[in-house]
Formats: sequence, structure tokens, C-alpha cells
Amino acid sequence: MAKRRLTIAIDGHSSAGKSTMAKALARELNYVYIDTGAMYRGATLFAMKERFVLNHQVDEESLVESLDRLFLSFKYNPATETSEMHIGGINVEKEIRTLEVAKNVSLVAKIPAVRTKLVALQQRMAEGSGVVMDGRDIGTVVLPNAELKFFMTADPEVRAWRRLRELKEKGKETTYNEVLENVLHRDKVDSERAVAPLKQADDAVVIDNSNLTMEEQFEFMLNVALKRMET
Ligand code: C5P
Repeated sequence: MAKRRLTIAIDGHSSAGKSTMAKALARELNYVYIDTGAMYRGATLFAMKERFVLNHQVDEESLVESLDRLFLSFKYNPATETSEMHIGGINVEKEIRTLEVAKNVSLVAKIPAVRTKLVALQQRMAEGSGVVMDGRDIGTVVLPNAELKFFMTADPEVRAWRRLRELKEKGKETTYNEVLENVLHRDKVDSERAVAPLKQADDAVVIDNSNLTMEEQFEFMLNVALKRMET
């Protein structure tokens, strides 16, 4: 009998390794992976380019008025084997991963009109099953009926070291303290915002991966998914 194809929601704190696990699960199960963080980063880059963000302050009114001109899409790049973020057809995958964008993204992500627009897009993208979507509000708001929900976290210090290593590997100059500050700041703004705050869904499987290797974590998540397909 063919296995049931699931919709899998992965939420959790910044730099907890959600996207690494989501991508690995999607590849293993032959599912579609949707990175909603990339969409909020895309909206933030758009706001920065339009000069609606200055000194970490967002001109909310101008941004909301311009949202009709924001066209976000993913296009698969066979060379990197990932779906890359495009704004108005232009590849911005590298630009959205900078610390500058990371510093502003929580401010843009807390604007209700931005969330309304992106959530609608995410729900359309997830129509059908065989989907892994990661973010902050996937199990609670975007896909509350997902058959499987994970909530991933780790100590902030562990997350900051991992993120620093990733940024250094990409040749970005930054310090541990700067990255830790960003991780803590995003946790705070994401958890305290009025609309769709980061929080665990009641039915989520919680994983604290502070002391887990990637392999251990992947095995655990895959096994939970395989079991869920049989129920
Ligand atoms: O997952 P990533 O770290 O790329 O997400 C960047 C930011 O986008 C988060 O810090 C959060 O502010 C925002 N975000 C969100 N809701 C989501 C995904 C991301 O608010 N579903």
C-alpha cells in the first residue's frame, strides 16, 4: 500500500537548524520544501531597497502601501539543488542571507499586512500533500491542520556558534557576540509580537538539539514521520 503523504510543519527559534532538517527530510521523502523565512527575508530586502528601512526603523505605512509591488517566488536551481528566492524574477538568494537583512527581518515580519500577504502565499504553495514547510507560525497559523508538527530549539549560545560558523564559511566577517545578539533579539521580537508570535503548537513534537548531532536528529525526525504515515 502506498504510504500516506504528509504535510509537515517545522517551527522553532532562529538558527535552530530548521531549514537543514526540513531540506533533508524533503529530499529523503521526495517532498516539496518551502522556506518561509526566505519569504520574510525577501520582503525585508525589498523594504530596504525601497528605503523604507533606515537605522533599523521601518516606515510601515509606505511599505504596506507598496506591498502590491512585491513579487516573491522560488525557482529551483539544479546547481545548488535548492529553491532560491527571487524578487520580481531576480535572484536574491545571496542577498537575503546577509546579517544586515537578519537584523531587520523581525521588524518587517511583525507588520500584520506583510504577514497576511505571505501567509496567503504560503497556504497556496502548500496545497496538496508531500510538503515540508519551516518557519515560526507554520503549525499554529499557516498550516494548523498539518499531520506532523515539529518544534525545534537549542541553547542560544549553541545556535550562535553554529550560525557564526556558517557565516564564516560563506566568507562573512562577523563576531560571536554580534551573532548571539542577533539570535537573542530575533527570539525576543518573534516571540513577543502581537500577530502570530513564535510559539509551540500544542500537538508539536519538541526537539532540543543542543546536544544532538545532525544525524541523530535526522534519524529521529524521519522515524517520527514514517510512523505518522502509517496512522
Ligand atoms: O527562518 P529564518 O531565520 O530565515 O527567518 C527569518 C525571520 O523571518 C525570523 O527571524 C522571523 O522574524 C521571520 N519569520 C516569521 N515567520 C515565519 C518565518 C520567518 O516571522 N514563518
